[in-house]
Amino acid sequence: MARGPNPLILLGLASVSFIAFATIVRKREQSAPASLRFQDPPPPEDKPQHTSAVFDHTKVTVLFVLGGPGAGKGTQCANLVSDFGFCHLSAGDLLRAEQHREGSQFGELIQTCIKEGTIVPMEVTVKLLENAMRAALQEGRTREGWAEGRGRFLIDGFPRKMDQAMKFDDDVCQASMVLFFSTTEEVMLERLLERGKTSGREDDNVESIKKRFTTYKETTMPVIKHYEALGKVAEIDSSPSVEEVHLKAKAVVEKILADKK
Ligand code: UDP
Ligand code: MG
Repeated sequence: MARGPNPLILLGLASVSFIAFATIVRKREQSAPASLRFQDPPPPEDKPQHTSAVFDHTKVTVLFVLGGPGAGKGTQCANLVSDFGFCHLSAGDLLRAEQHREGSQFGELIQTCIKEGTIVPMEVTVKLLENAMRAALQEGRTREGWAEGRGRFLIDGFPRKMDQAMKFDDDVCQASMVLFFSTTEEVMLERLLERGKTSGREDDNVESIKKRFTTYKETTMPVIKHYEALGKVAEIDSSPSVEEVHLKAKAVVEKILADKK
């Protein structure tokens, strides 16, 4: 008489398939780079209704910080962090961290771009920024400007190219203003060569610096012009001493934050 399949064998087969399935799912999760993993979209109530951006610009203040290489962006950002409790995100620093992260599929690409002074494909940089912003907003920061889903960010050295600017404003968070630190190439070159003595950066040498100046003039200046046409640029002469520039920058930011209230 024909008998049905042995229930024990069926049970065994089912467990083997389940374990195989779970292993595949785990492997796929592990292979996605941690800092570039696509996150779940925020819950609907966090999403602004009038735009498709991830963060609501009425709650999250983004100031882009631009200026040529060596103009003093990083130094002044540090001052503004202590004045106003900003979260400071340097696009270059995030890229360097991703370059050195074990298992990153973008390490070589980033290294080449940085050395050549060219711009890393925007998807990488925009995603790194978005993830860092989300992490900061979830940290539960307590300084002024961080209550009830609010936050304030200085996005330093970004956007350096029009496509990045468009993508960030549309998909991540519309920027409130651009702080534009301007000075001469002579001043920037001198500062970069001085920094190069100790920075260990692969692009603080004359050859890379020249290329960075070219990219700045040809690719980043149009971004500044774009925001200028929108009335969103505050230009600060960064030739004087750190403290003088700081005082000017502080006054500018004070006004931006007051106007936003
Ligand atoms: N970079 C990029 N996209 C960005 C920002 C930086 O590709 O949005 C790369 C680019 O190659 C640039 C390098 O990172 O030359 C260094 O940028 P960083 O902002 O650290 O330089 P800084 O302006 O502070 O001297
Ligand atoms: Mg910098």
